[in-house]
Amino acid sequence: MKLIAGNWKMNGTRADALKLAQGLVVAEIGKRNVEVAICPPFPLLEGVAAAIKGSGIHLGAQDCSSFEAGAYTGDVSAPMLKDLGCAYVILGHSERRAQHGENDALVKAKMTAAHKAGLKVILCVGEKDARMPEGPRRVFIKSQLLQSLAPSTSVENTVIAYEPVWAIGSGLTPSPEQISSIHAAIHGFLPAALDAMRVIYGGSVKADNALDIVNLAGVDGALPGGASLEAESFVRIVKAVK
Ligand code: PEP
Repeated sequence: MKLIAGNWKMNGTRADALKLAQGLVVAEIGKRNVEVAICPPFPLLEGVAAAIKGSGIHLGAQDCSSFEAGAYTGDVSAPMLKDLGCAYVILGHSERRAQHGENDALVKAKMTAAHKAGLKVILCVGEKDARMPEGPRRVFIKSQLLQSLAPSTSVENTVIAYEPVWAIGSGLTPSPEQISSIHAAIHGFLPAALDAMRVIYGGSVKADNALDIVNLAGVDGALPGGASLEAESFVRIVKAVK
């Protein structure tokens, strides 16, 4: 089944989150032929968990620590997220890599911790520069993917999100052919046992372009950011899945 996961990033108050979550519940998007997850910031998780209970919409977080517990001020552990009702956690998002200096080794350690806690991981990979030639682009993505993948990875507990960094929040997207071709390449980079893993696309997915992206060959869903902050646009993205 395809996956549409909304990355709310660092947005919203408890009241905003409840309104948005209720808008999604009323639209019954958790009861379609597509898996749906929403990933609010940490303080909003508990309230959103209550609001979406029984709706079929899954809860996700945007990061977790590589440690289970202890003296890690400001961090949140994977078991805490599981306890809050999270099914998913986004790891290796380019904003974490750029703003918090997260490298592949740390992402791998976080993945291991998430899997151990019973969370499914949405692992983000993608090149920074749109002008990167095709060959180096593939070498970069292959390296980022294989260096970040934890040994605990299975088809069931992980989804890859191809997110070209230049497409995030920019309103730009690769062409449909480019998206399909990179998704096929990512399948080729994965070990044979992981060939059936879902590969979703992220980077300026909006209500207006979702139909052309989420139904492409090799695209198993989407990870919208900005467009997941309005119920109407997120619902349209979910409904774009054929
Ligand atoms: C993202 O946050 O992963 C993302 C793809 O953002 P946007 O849809 O706003 O480009």
